[in-house]
Amino acid sequence: MEESVMLAQLQEMMKESGAHLEGHFLLTSGKHSSDYMQCALLLRFPEYAAFAGKALAEKAAPYRPDIISAPALGGMIIGHEVARALNLPFLFCERQDGVMALRRFPFQTGKRVFVVEDVITTGVSSGEAGAVFARNGADWVGTGAIIDRSGGKSSLPHEPESLWRVNFPLWSPEECPLCAAGKPFVKPGSRTAKS
Ligand SMILES: [Zn+2]
Repeated sequence: MEESVMLAQLQEMMKESGAHLEGHFLLTSGKHSSDYMQCALLLRFPEYAAFAGKALAEKAAPYRPDIISAPALGGMIIGHEVARALNLPFLFCERQDGVMALRRFPFQTGKRVFVVEDVITTGVSSGEAGAVFARNGADWVGTGAIIDRSGGKSSLPHEPESLWRVNFPLWSPEECPLCAAGKPFVKPGSRTAKS
């Protein structure tokens, strides 16, 4: 699919599902922003999850992966959809006593692994999942996400693939122009979910 068409459709789906909200938000980091993103709201609709999975699979395919992986929980749905689109196995990683691990699957010596996330901010979760494979004789070839909000500053050893690179401003409460304009903020997640 052409990039601009894909992005326009994704942006529409993000809005329509409530996964991308515009307004005035207090984020969990304590920062204020004009934009809030929660990919779970997009991915609750299987049709939208399949769309994003197929689009991200197109970006993963040139890495010639043998396996798709993802850190639980954020990457579970989109990872599965990418794997489905490429007809590859999907092996998720999860934390065990706080440490990322491949608990339920045999190790994958010599396999090429592409790691998938819903949103890459710092890249820590994806990086830990990739490292699990790399430590055990697999080849961590790439990483991708629906949304990249790292601003090019993720901790990943390579530049992540993504469907949408966003760079929404984040402000401390003291410097927030929306607060200065007297607009009340909302804390996403505390509001009643759209259905
Ligand atoms: Zn504010």
